[in-house]
Amino acid sequence: MKNVLIMTVSTLFISSNITAQEANPTQKDKKAAEKETKLEDPVCHMKVKKSGKITAKHKGVEYSFCSESCKESFVKNPDKYIKK
Ligand SMILES: [Zn+2]
Repeated sequence: MKNVLIMTVSTLFISSNITAQEANPTQKDKKAAEKETKLEDPVCHMKVKKSGKITAKHKGVEYSFCSESCKESFVKNPDKYIKK
């Protein structure tokens, strides 16, 4: 019976060890996701993903937008939305 107890304890130890190792990359992913959402739509001031597909370049700076309509408004009158 002693062997069974040792087996159970070591199994518990191994599985808790695996859980601890898995927790670290998950936290890194969350931090990366937070960084990705830091860009702001200059038209409606919504937070948008940096990897978003709706972007426009103005004077060498790339801006991201939540929707095509926001992008259109910006392209028509960029100076209205850029902070000086
Ligand atoms: Zn927008």
